[in-house]
Amino acid sequence: MKSIICPFCENTDFISVCRINLGGLSEREVVRCTNCRLAFVNPLPTEDELQRFYVQQYFLSDDPRWGFCNYFANRKSQYLQGRIIARRLRRWKPHGRVLDVGCATGFLLEGIRDHCTWEVFGIEISEWAVKIARTQLGLNVTLGTLEKAEFPDNFFDIILLNDILEHVRDPLQFLTTVYARLASGGKVFLRVPNGRCDILPFVQDYQKGYVRVQTQAHLYYFEPEVLQRILIAIGFRIDQVTGYGLKAGLKDLGILRRKTQVFEKTNLQQAQSETIISDKKHGLLEEWGYRLTHLPVLPFLRSFAHELHIWAQKI
Ligand SMILES: [Zn+2]
Repeated sequence: MKSIICPFCENTDFISVCRINLGGLSEREVVRCTNCRLAFVNPLPTEDELQRFYVQQYFLSDDPRWGFCNYFANRKSQYLQGRIIARRLRRWKPHGRVLDVGCATGFLLEGIRDHCTWEVFGIEISEWAVKIARTQLGLNVTLGTLEKAEFPDNFFDIILLNDILEHVRDPLQFLTTVYARLASGGKVFLRVPNGRCDILPFVQDYQKGYVRVQTQAHLYYFEPEVLQRILIAIGFRIDQVTGYGLKAGLKDLGILRRKTQVFEKTNLQQAQSETIISDKKHGLLEEWGYRLTHLPVLPFLRSFAHELHIWAQKI
């Protein structure tokens, strides 16, 4: 594999981890840098291929090879997460600017907007999702990528990266842009799958002789320590790292038994009818239910958690 250069440490020595089917695109290899342990899909898909992937089908698919079966089913939990983030913003300062990168239909931003006085911005590459965010939720959402958007440097107080970093072609360049767009002292929040767990079902299936479909098109697999080193190298100070979903992580690792995945099918008409419902009265019970299912695990168990939540500050 002489042609690959590690985007983080520039090492040229890699091991092959497994092969995956990148959700309807094609079969690819996953490689890991022998020096810094960064793992990613090789070759990476082109921008055009990715653009084709994140069409409406990614959010509302009846084909299990694509992203979400029904993105609207996430509305309530996304809204509640927004409410929790709004509380954190209010505690920090009364006014500010928050950007959600890859905001999809804007459900999280909706939760933030409704519970604090911060100015909310979104950016999203799916034209279909942007249209819903603008017309149905009245949000200020830009179509495109962060790198190409005309936001000034030192502009945002908070940038949210929910399940984004594992999808971008060049996470180092992307995080450098995030750093530039943040005001001094500004904070970035990252929610990323724990690469150590995320890749394991694919490795296990590959060892059994078949190539599993990666429905979410994750291009990178960040182990907690690797991602923290990357953030520090860019200039961030790590404020908080939390691991969530210990049970799911242990299932990935094969310590708990994993049930066969069932793909729920839905149709577009049914999903669209759900968007008309403007139920904003999400009760406390749901919020506590959400919190209880996302209790942070002890720090030493972090490497077994399915998902990582990281707060880092521009210094
Ligand atoms: Zn490396």
